[in-house]
Amino acid sequence: MTGLDAEAIRKDFPVLSRTVRNDAPLVYLDSGATSQKPRQVLDAVRDAYELHNAAAHRGTHLLGEEATDLYEGARAKVSRFIGAEADEVVFTKNATEAINLVAYAMSNATAVGAARRSQGAPPPDTPWDRFRVLPGDEILITELEHHANLVPWQQLCERTGATLRWLGVTPDGRVDVSGLDEKITGRTKLVAITHQSNVTGAITPLSDVARIAHEKGALVLADAAQSVPHQPVDVGALGVDFLVFSGHKMLGPYGVGVLFGRSELLAEMPPFLTGGSMIEVVRMEGTTFLPPPQRFEPGVPFIAEAAGLGAAVDYLAELGMENVAAHERELTAHALDLLGQNDGITIVGPRTTSDRGGCVAFEVDGVHPHDVGQVLDELGIAVRTGHHCAWPLHRAFGVQASTRASFYVYNTPAEVEALAEGIRHAQRFFRSLWNFSRCTRRSSWTTTAIPTTGACGSRLTPRCITSTRSAATRSRSVCCSRT
Ligand code: PLP
Repeated sequence: MTGLDAEAIRKDFPVLSRTVRNDAPLVYLDSGATSQKPRQVLDAVRDAYELHNAAAHRGTHLLGEEATDLYEGARAKVSRFIGAEADEVVFTKNATEAINLVAYAMSNATAVGAARRSQGAPPPDTPWDRFRVLPGDEILITELEHHANLVPWQQLCERTGATLRWLGVTPDGRVDVSGLDEKITGRTKLVAITHQSNVTGAITPLSDVARIAHEKGALVLADAAQSVPHQPVDVGALGVDFLVFSGHKMLGPYGVGVLFGRSELLAEMPPFLTGGSMIEVVRMEGTTFLPPPQRFEPGVPFIAEAAGLGAAVDYLAELGMENVAAHERELTAHALDLLGQNDGITIVGPRTTSDRGGCVAFEVDGVHPHDVGQVLDELGIAVRTGHHCAWPLHRAFGVQASTRASFYVYNTPAEVEALAEGIRHAQRFFRSLWNFSRCTRRSSWTTTAIPTTGACGSRLTPRCITSTRSAATRSRSVCCSRT
């Protein structure tokens, strides 16, 4: 027993009582992409718009004050949730924007310094030095990163002439932290690293990474988009400098995410986006900026979304993050056990629950992930298929794509069993199709999973192979209706 009553929790999520294709009850196993939202969060968003709608930090009227209180109240809740101070929490649109904020702040610091130097002017009177990235500097990432924590660093390197380096992946889908002491060098400016992989579920030993990085003078940014929603996270214990996550993956609304930054770093960091609400004094000759977090939040903020995130944090805190993690561990153990009993399935990631979160990616022998996803969808089971925005990781495993089931507080063991049975159904289905077509090309879905010719001998059209619904059924009716 984990202390979570998933059946009771499900009643808070209106969407979980609807049916989907073929009138099947919804089995939602795609929370890694985005979580469902409980009534409490939806109510908080509606309440903010219905009763307190005004521009926070601007009006002197009552509604303006209430909107400000809602927004700042949400910041206080979020900061408590991750063990931070309120002024260390910057609201962004999502995790992606939070990472870009740091990357662009670094190149802004670099550009200002370079512009002054090129004009023969003295260096700017700012403490931005530690954010400047110069040719020869290094940014260290890993092969497990979501594109959100990869592309912004590639781009920063392109803008500054720095070098991108990365840690590899172990055969069981973890960040390879061996030899970290040599891989983080005196030139490493920043280590940007996932806390929990969105594909393999592996949890990175962040505090060890942070300790070594700090010994070498490097900053550490943790991508916690998949960890903050699913396990207790304390930024102080992790020892990281920056940490990012998205509200929509943790029961909250879309359009609100978080950048945590240690207060002394945020105090020194130049802004990314500029404009209203982030300024101290504006003259035609130049502008000074407010202290953090306002320096990084230009424009009228998203009050209702922040209020919704505050409600999501309340909801999770009430459940207890230890309980959330334990519940997902049980579901993951059940999934690893059931899928492990199926010879035609290869798990992409650790096969035990140790240092691992609640998402399970896998390949089904001879069946393309998109076809697995379609068959499951026909059964009402929603999973993610593709490279999950982690293309280099899939390449490292020698596959183009995988199927991913990801669990959350509202999932039950029965749903895991439905997944395992659904996959068996897909295997039977495609086996019968292979037999039907007498096609023997089933060696690997990375080439062609579905036969290229039907039993009638006619060539299956690309639409047959990649159809968005009932691939095999359509293949039969389109290509073999003559037989
Ligand atoms: N990092 C990880 C590990 C993710 O799983 C995701 C989204 O799936 C992101 C970053 C980006 O999140 P968002 O699209 O909400 O910015």
